[in-house]
Amino acid sequence: MKSVLFSRFFILLPWILIVIIMLDVDTRRPSPPLTPRPYFSPYAAARGGPRLPLRRAGPVRGVEKLNESRQQPPPQPQLPTIYAITPTYSRPVQKAELTRLANTFRQVAQLHWILVEDAAARSELVSRFLARAGLPSTHLHVPTPRRYKRPGLPRATEQRNAGLAWLRQRHQHQRAQPGVLFFADDDNTYSLELFQEMRTTRKVSVWPVGLVGGRRYERPLVENGKVVGWYTGWRADRPFAIDMAGFAVSLQVILSNPKAVFKRRGSQPGMQESDFLKQITTVEELEPKANNCTKVLVWHTRTEKVNLANEPKYHLDTVKIEV
Ligand code: UDP
Ligand code: MN
Repeated sequence: MKSVLFSRFFILLPWILIVIIMLDVDTRRPSPPLTPRPYFSPYAAARGGPRLPLRRAGPVRGVEKLNESRQQPPPQPQLPTIYAITPTYSRPVQKAELTRLANTFRQVAQLHWILVEDAAARSELVSRFLARAGLPSTHLHVPTPRRYKRPGLPRATEQRNAGLAWLRQRHQHQRAQPGVLFFADDDNTYSLELFQEMRTTRKVSVWPVGLVGGRRYERPLVENGKVVGWYTGWRADRPFAIDMAGFAVSLQVILSNPKAVFKRRGSQPGMQESDFLKQITTVEELEPKANNCTKVLVWHTRTEKVNLANEPKYHLDTVKIEV
């Protein structure tokens, strides 16, 4: 009996070993990566071009040819530069706002950031920040006169005008390269799709804005590809019932209307956009973007005032930290 068992065991043993080895090999197959695949961004590709394989040293014909043709993509017409004018002022959340904004802008090809500080001089914080932001930028400053720093009065008028003046001066001698300007407040939220939409602006383009005017969104009403009115819950009588974040203007239009600026005199609260747009375009001329103004690609978000109730009156920490 014992010998029968033994002989059966020895007959089965090699099979058992084979099964164990096969199972082992199977589990050693590379498992799918834990980290998700990098997000493919068309913007990143436009910026630096796709990552191409390095050329091989040896003449490996087939491969070489393939790489060669990939390394020289067909020449593309130059993208219009997007100029983003951002007024900004010193406050506890300033660096956080600018960080979010730079993280967005860094993903947009051919963007020039015009950052205008509401201050008598350029601050160290913003200068340092911009130097490290890795973005083509211009750093301007102009203080808002004290008499205009009151609730209910329009904000950032002088700063937006300083941005416009810089653009006009920069392009005064040369024939304007294709460009698009928009006003990017430092606290809003911008989807990357928005930049694709605004880049094709011929004169003045418009789109919906989320979380604004006491509603979930405001938008231009479009019929047969033309703006015919406004969906808004606030002062519907405005000639252009649109937020600052809801339009872009071509550089050409800015240059051919050299006097168009944001006005203090006679401008009522909430009328800044209308007062400006009236000087450069008409409602009939507007170019609706974002699928005939049916998609929200920008949000008029506002950052909560931070609670600094426990902040000591005098500096207590052993180090000085920029926040
Ligand atoms: N801003 C400024 N100086 C001020 C107040 C605001 O430069 O005294 C800037 C601010 O950083 C933002 C833009 O102007 O980029 C609009 O201001 P805010 O977001 O406070 O206005 P709202 O969201 O109420 O339109
Ligand atoms: Mn805001």
